Amino acid sequence: MNEHHQSIRAAKEKLGDELVILAHHYQRADVVSFGDFKGDSYVLAQKAASCDAQKIVFCGVHFMAESARILARPEQQVFMPDTRAGCPMADMADADDARVALERIREVAGDKTVVPITYINSTAEVKALVGEHGGIVCTSSNAPKAFEWARSRGEVIFFLPDEFLGRNTARRMSARSMVLWNPYENNGGLTDQQLHGADVVLWRGYCHVHTYFNPPMIEAQRARHPDCQIVVHPECTPEVVDAADADGSTAFIVQFVDKAGPGSTVVVGTEVNLVLRLAKEYPDRTVLPLDHSVCPNMYRTNVEKLARLLDGFDPALEITVDEEVGANAKLALTRMLEL
Ligand code: 13P
Ligand code: SF4
Repeated sequence: MNEHHQSIRAAKEKLGDELVILAHHYQRADVVSFGDFKGDSYVLAQKAASCDAQKIVFCGVHFMAESARILARPEQQVFMPDTRAGCPMADMADADDARVALERIREVAGDKTVVPITYINSTAEVKALVGEHGGIVCTSSNAPKAFEWARSRGEVIFFLPDEFLGRNTARRMSARSMVLWNPYENNGGLTDQQLHGADVVLWRGYCHVHTYFNPPMIEAQRARHPDCQIVVHPECTPEVVDAADADGSTAFIVQFVDKAGPGSTVVVGTEVNLVLRLAKEYPDRTVLPLDHSVCPNMYRTNVEKLARLLDGFDPALEITVDEEVGANAKLALTRMLEL
């Protein structure tokens, strides 16, 4: 145990129920060990919405802490050990650009109802836009449910910002026609005809940690470990999802490894910190990363920064959200929690 571990322990003891630490599965192992709850983004959003602690410390990335801020009660405070831990995918959808896209899709759709869905990996402003327009937030663990929810309310789904979670989910639900909205091109690079025929419009955003994986990596692992099972996150490309044995959210991956049983070999295509921790937690089976892919933003949080935060709760590390943005974003987040 080092000095930072000691100081985190002492702060936790001193603050007791006043403090809750939420740790995402992609955090470093020692950070996770200090979490009162560890989980995927869905579970941690649920915890933020239901916990009573005065101070919520989020060890994850910015959109997760922002969602916690929106879901927590106003008198609670939400902090991050390093507020620079963002998510490049969330930053790929600017709310003004998304508004222009939604208006255009609506205009071309005519009488058809367009229902927006935003992945939780998005800014509070994008969630607010979606909430304001009758849409919903989803995570990778409930994307199919969110698609069903949207389908029961309209004929066209506008999904942002992750093209691949959208594509993998829509394929399963037998979408008739998917088109890709490129925010760098006029009208998304789509003609009226292309847009008019689509029942799913996907935003061109992606996670570099998951799109790094490719089918040859899967073939190489199968050659090395002929009896292995391969599970990947749905932010991977459809080619990788098709080549794997299963795909699902972070929570699904944890369960998959758990159910695989002693003696099995599981190759996992997701952020490497989770995979290495699972390998340690399940020494009776072989758990291997599909390849070494790190989320540099998740990696920004460490025990030193956590200890420093707990030592004085520097106001610069508190997460705040504009009131009106928060109210509209909460509509979309609450619809997800009620699914
Ligand atoms: P989960 O919703 O599976 O926790 O994923 C969050 C994330 O950022 C994946 O890259
Ligand atoms: Fe964002 Fe990808 Fe990191 Fe998840 S793993 S926080 S989607 S960059």
